[in-house]
Amino acid sequence: MPSFMEPFRIKAVEPIPFPTEEERRDALAAAGYNLFRVPARRITIDLLTDSGTAAMSAAQWAALMAGDESYAGARSFERFEAIVRELTGFSEVLPVHQGRAGERILLGNVLGLGDISVSNTHFDSTRASVEAAGAEAVDLPVPAYEGMPNPFGGDLDLGALAELLTGRSGRRIRCVVLTVTNNANGGQPVSLLNIAGARKLCDQHGIPLFLDASRFAENAYLITEREAGYADSTPREVARAMFDLADGCWASLKKDGMANIGGLIALRDRELADRCAEQVIATEGFPTYGGLAGRDLDALAQGLLEVTEPDYLRYRAESTRWFGEQLSLAGLPVLQPTGCHAVYVDAGLLLDHIPPHELPATAFANELYLAGGVRVCELGTLVFGKRAPDGGPDIPAPRELVRFALPRRVYTASHLEYVVDVAEEVRSKAAQLRGYRIERQGGALRQFTAMLRPV
Ligand SMILES: *Cc1c(COP(=O)(O)O)cnc(C)c1O
Repeated sequence: MPSFMEPFRIKAVEPIPFPTEEERRDALAAAGYNLFRVPARRITIDLLTDSGTAAMSAAQWAALMAGDESYAGARSFERFEAIVRELTGFSEVLPVHQGRAGERILLGNVLGLGDISVSNTHFDSTRASVEAAGAEAVDLPVPAYEGMPNPFGGDLDLGALAELLTGRSGRRIRCVVLTVTNNANGGQPVSLLNIAGARKLCDQHGIPLFLDASRFAENAYLITEREAGYADSTPREVARAMFDLADGCWASLKKDGMANIGGLIALRDRELADRCAEQVIATEGFPTYGGLAGRDLDALAQGLLEVTEPDYLRYRAESTRWFGEQLSLAGLPVLQPTGCHAVYVDAGLLLDHIPPHELPATAFANELYLAGGVRVCELGTLVFGKRAPDGGPDIPAPRELVRFALPRRVYTASHLEYVVDVAEEVRSKAAQLRGYRIERQGGALRQFTAMLRPV
C-alpha cells in the first residue's frame, strides 16, 4: 500500500487513452522515435513535464467565473496582486503570459552586452534570455559528491561566487539568480542558509539577487523537512523568508501556480518595475493583465494559496518520494534524494551497452512508451550532448537521465503503480534494447523536433 494518501477527492474526471501495442509502435515510428512528437491521444500516462499540466481545484474553477475581463485595472488583477504581495513581500507585481516572458523582460533590463549573470543553474529558457541580452550565463552549482546525497543539492557554490566576484571578471557580474528548486539540477532545493550567503555577497558587491521562483513552494516545504531550525515553520513562512532575502523574482506559474498558464515578475525597486512594465506593454499586454485573461489571474491567485497548504505539500513530497522508492525497489537506478516535481533515473547505468551517441536515455524512454504508453522526458545526450565539430559522434552529456515528472494533483497512487510495473518490465529486458541515430535535427533545442532511427 502507498505510504501516503491524496488529500483531495475527484470531482471531474478525464478518460485516459489506452492505445494498443500496435498503435503505440505506429505512433512512435510516425513521430520519428521522438516522444515530443507523439500526440497526447496516444499516451496513457503522461509524465513528460509538470509544466502547465496541473489539475485545478473546485475553488479555482469557481474563481474562473469571477474573472473580470476589463482591459485595465480589472478586479482579477487586484486579487492576484494582493496575494502575490502577501506571499512575497514585493510591492511591484507584473503578470506575464508565462515564465520565459518574465525572465526575458527582467533580465533584459538588468543585463547588457558583456555582462555576466551567475546562478546555481540557469534553466534553459533563462540562459536563452541572458544570452539574448548579449550577456554570459555562468552556472555555479555546488559540486556533486558521488554516492553522498546532499539534502541541498540545489545550492549555489558560494566559495566559487566569492572568487568570481573578486576576480578579473568580477565587475561584469550584474546579477545573481537562484533557481528554487534547482530544476536543471534534479529539482533539488536551495537552503535558506545558502540564499542568505548569496545575499551577503551581493550586498558586498552592490548587485541584485533574484529568485527564479517557479517552484518556490516546493523549495519552502523541503526546507521545513531538511534544514535545521525550520521544522516548526509553515511553508508560507519559509517562502516569505526566501523572498525577504531577494530583490525580486520571476516565476513560471505553470508550475507552483497550480494552473495551466501564467507567469509573473515581482520586485521591490519601483524604477526597475516601471521599466519592465513598459516592455510588458510592448510585448505582453497592459500591465494589469500581461497576456493573461482576467479569469487566469483569479485561478492563479487561488492556486498560489493552495500550493502553500501544508497538507498539499506534504502529499506532494511524500508521493514523489514513495514513487522514487518503488522505482528503486523495481531495480531502477534512481537519483537520491528525490525532490518534489520529478523522479530521475540514470538510464546510462541500466543501458551501459549503448554508447552515448546512440542515445541510451532515449532508448529507455521510448521503450517505456512501447511497453505501456508511458511518456517521460529524456535528459541525456539528445538534450545535453553537443555535436562534434568534425561531424563525428556527439560529445556525450555528463549523465543519461530520464525524468519522470509528476503533474500536480493529476495522477493517483494506482497510476504511479502502473508506471512502476511498466518500468520494471523495461528494466528486465534492458540488455536487449538498442539505441537510436539522429536522422534530422535542428539547432540548440533539437530534442523537441529531432527525427531518429533505431540502430
Ligand atoms: C518552466 C521554467 C521556466 C520557464 O517558464 P515557462 O512558463 O515555461 O516559460 C523558467 N525557469 C524555471 C526554473 C522553470 O522551471
